[in-house]
Amino acid sequence: MTIYWEQCSICGLHRPTRTCTMDEELMVCPNCCFACPRRDICPNPVWKFDLSIRKPKKIRRSEAQKVLMDLLSKLETG
Ligand SMILES: [Zn+2]
Repeated sequence: MTIYWEQCSICGLHRPTRTCTMDEELMVCPNCCFACPRRDICPNPVWKFDLSIRKPKKIRRSEAQKVLMDLLSKLETG
């Protein structure tokens, strides 16, 4: 899944948009997706994906820390 910084088909603003799950010809920003009346039946809303982005960032940060600690320990022992 990829997020594009493109023009939203609904509001016309340039935002991080994603292809609408309900209509693949539409690029929708999270704001418009959240306002969509079909979001109750939508299996994969754009705004939901937007929220889930935050988790990998935290994981990446701790992974980077792990790698750094590994390198440091190797330097200390080696
Ligand atoms: Zn929009």
